[in-house]
Amino acid sequence: MAEMPFVDTDIEDECAMHATSELSIKKKRKRTIGREIEEGIERKKKKNKQYQPNYFISLPITNPKITGSIQAVQDAIIQKDQRFSKAMVRSGSLHVTMLVMHLSTEEEISIAVGALSDSKVFVDDLLKGKRVNLSFQGIDHFRNQVGFVNLAENDHTALLKEIAETMKKIFQEKGIMTGEERAFKPHLTFMKLSKSTELRKQVKKIDSSLYEGFKNHYFGDEILHRFDLCSMLKKKQPNGYYYCESSIVFGEKQAAEPDDAELVSLSKRLVENAVLKAVQQYLEETQNKSRQTDGSPAKTEEAASGSKNESDNDNSK
Ligand code: AMP
Repeated sequence: MAEMPFVDTDIEDECAMHATSELSIKKKRKRTIGREIEEGIERKKKKNKQYQPNYFISLPITNPKITGSIQAVQDAIIQKDQRFSKAMVRSGSLHVTMLVMHLSTEEEISIAVGALSDSKVFVDDLLKGKRVNLSFQGIDHFRNQVGFVNLAENDHTALLKEIAETMKKIFQEKGIMTGEERAFKPHLTFMKLSKSTELRKQVKKIDSSLYEGFKNHYFGDEILHRFDLCSMLKKKQPNGYYYCESSIVFGEKQAAEPDDAELVSLSKRLVENAVLKAVQQYLEETQNKSRQTDGSPAKTEEAASGSKNESDNDNSK
């Protein structure tokens, strides 16, 4: 009922209508309907704003070859028309958006953090240990408002789409309101008119002649290594990247988990140290025995522990 456009109609006005002339009734009805429509539009605007995406899952772009090539396109465009400098996405915040959502409370943010962490197992399952190599080539646009670098269609992009769909389901199952009903189209935005209202007033479209020389340019490959839950509105990090609530990492060793080569070298050092210790102990015992038979004093504990510290230091090398 609260959603109905007539819910705020003034009852007193409605009753008073019976005492007035037909003309004034018509005028008043027109005014009332006009007001109701306006209020309805206002309410709809407010509601849309309430549910507008304010968080997203980002796949950060960190390969300097890609960021450098994008900088080159941006520079070329700005050289043609200085006004577009306001539309450019900064190098530190380049990303592929996997999913957008609206989170309105701290509780919802922590549910989303949980959903991202739950996604890790599912994504690992889809990856099956494979490396996702995303190849960026060519420039395209959305309604001449957004300029982006395309992802070359291959098995890896198909896998990325599957990952995006899986994540969307996981977030939705947790009750998170995810945006965009349209199909996921992976892209790397490097400019958009919506970055500046002033610019949007001056320029209505991004003409493709602006990036002519780069239309089929190969920008480079990015290996999927991380997904971040980022805020669209919170203050960005000093490096220019978005404020992140949490992240999941792929294809990297965890700091606490050494690889096979490290384990072999560690066990070799342990064996060597154990042998050294045993030899030292044997030598000390035989020396002590011979001193006891000679009548000379035994070594102190501190002096004996010096050798232990040395072997500990060896371990930390
Ligand atoms: P992003 O790369 O996430 O910064 O998105 C840039 C802009 O492109 C946003 O305004 C999106 O709403 C818009 N956008 C994203 N995907 C599509 C799509 N498939 N079709 C049209 N516009 C899109």
